[in-house]
Amino acid sequence: MAELDKAPGGVAAPGDWTYASAPESTDIVRIAERYGHFVGGEWLEASETYETISPRDEAPLAAIGQATRAEVESAVAAARNAYADGWSALPGSERAKYLFRIARILQERAREFAVLESLNGGKPIKESRDVDLPLAAAHFFYYAGWADKLEYAFPNRKPRPVGVAGQIIPWNFPLLMLAWKVAPALACGNTVVLKPAETTPLTALLFCDVLRQAELPPGVVNIVTGDGRTGAALVESDGVDKIAFTGSTEVGKAIQRQLAGTGKKLTLELGGKAANIVFDDCALDQAVEGIVNGIYFNQGHVCCAGSRLLVQESIYEPLVEKLKRRLTTLRVGDPLDKNTDVGAINSAMQLEKIKELVAAGEEEGAEIYQPPCVLPEKGYWFAPTVFTNVAQSYRIAQEEIFGPVLSVLTFRTPDEAVEKANNTPYGLSAGVWTEKGSRILWMAQRLRAGVVWANTFNRFDPSSPFGGYKESGFGREGGRHGLEPYLRFDE
Ligand code: NDP
Repeated sequence: MAELDKAPGGVAAPGDWTYASAPESTDIVRIAERYGHFVGGEWLEASETYETISPRDEAPLAAIGQATRAEVESAVAAARNAYADGWSALPGSERAKYLFRIARILQERAREFAVLESLNGGKPIKESRDVDLPLAAAHFFYYAGWADKLEYAFPNRKPRPVGVAGQIIPWNFPLLMLAWKVAPALACGNTVVLKPAETTPLTALLFCDVLRQAELPPGVVNIVTGDGRTGAALVESDGVDKIAFTGSTEVGKAIQRQLAGTGKKLTLELGGKAANIVFDDCALDQAVEGIVNGIYFNQGHVCCAGSRLLVQESIYEPLVEKLKRRLTTLRVGDPLDKNTDVGAINSAMQLEKIKELVAAGEEEGAEIYQPPCVLPEKGYWFAPTVFTNVAQSYRIAQEEIFGPVLSVLTFRTPDEAVEKANNTPYGLSAGVWTEKGSRILWMAQRLRAGVVWANTFNRFDPSSPFGGYKESGFGREGGRHGLEPYLRFDE
């Protein structure tokens, strides 16, 4: 408890305004010592394993299977059997029942999943609890609703499932990315082999227990764990009809090259370097909150993060001052503390990448600001960072940092804002802050980004399609558009 001082009027006032810690208990989570692969509704003993840790203190959590090519093939075969053995022919209304069940179980077990997500991935518990879990459940609810309405979604086009979907997901939103991939695939009558990221497999493995509880027929969803080699084996498997990948542009390009000419369907959701554009007529304090949410949410491990702040020159100084002041109030630390705003960096490797790009920013001449904050000794941490005096050519203005690092640039006219915003190989998202509705529409028409947020940032909804332009990938996830990659049309 903070010490209480006596104010002159006799009213007790706290002398220290720091938050008392409010750690979430980990008792609700039971982690096994060792996990295998979930194949055909059974646990297949893993022939090789590696250790998964918690980035908050580097403590080992469990031994995780490193799936070999043969293990991947057995998962693909199980998915093929389940596809042929009834799942693809099941009426949509029956498939929907399973999806509704999964959604409800995720809601019931939300706290358990949220704690595990924060433990294994490092994100603040208030985000896994209030964002990842509700959105993951909402995604299953949403696509459950479509399962028996595909004929109406695509009238006169005779939608049919594609077959076996191979799905590869990253470490920044482990369960949410699983939901984005599994829910539409199942709603459309496909079966699935999913590979979670090497550093964050635990919620996907716990999800297997949800599948058991929901009595999903064996083999409809199979989960194989491992590093990039496991992902590559899944991409190369002849038994897979469609690949859905979310991750780096580099790996996405390699997958696209590999699949060219094979006839397999492909969707890629890759990196981003979003512009968050602030005009001088905006509600400034609201914009500052949006900027903070845009880049420091999930430690900046967000493909659509607003990592380039474009500020109209006339408000540059007051905005940067307010932003720096706001940064001093961010609480960085234990992901399991309910007060934490910025948690742990996901891995030692990602921390190295952030450090390297931040050093490059300083060398190139940008001015760095980090609020005073004490970082824990163990684990992987990086203080929220703002760079001013950034030129468009600097690496920190061009490359995806995927960390809590913001680059501030300026513009004078709307045309210049559009030109600068589009001056990137990426095109995933953008933000516009202005009180003028007409300007929002004018900007949205010109920004080459899959999502444009107006007077908000990082808002997600299962009914809204999400995806990129240019090197941010192709295909959409979410909404009616998100069904299409999992369907073929016999026209
Ligand atoms: P990757 O693209 O390597 O990882 C994404 C997923 O693909 C993981 O499951 C990964 O496995 C798997 N994978 C890796 N190599 C292959 C391969 N050859 N074939 C098939 N699957 C493969 O991203 P990283 O985790 O290495 O992150 C690197 C950078 O990518 C980040 O710094 C960030 O800039 C960006 N990134 C972007 C994301 C986005 O949502 N747009 C998400 C994650 C990263 P494994 O986990 O074992 O590596």
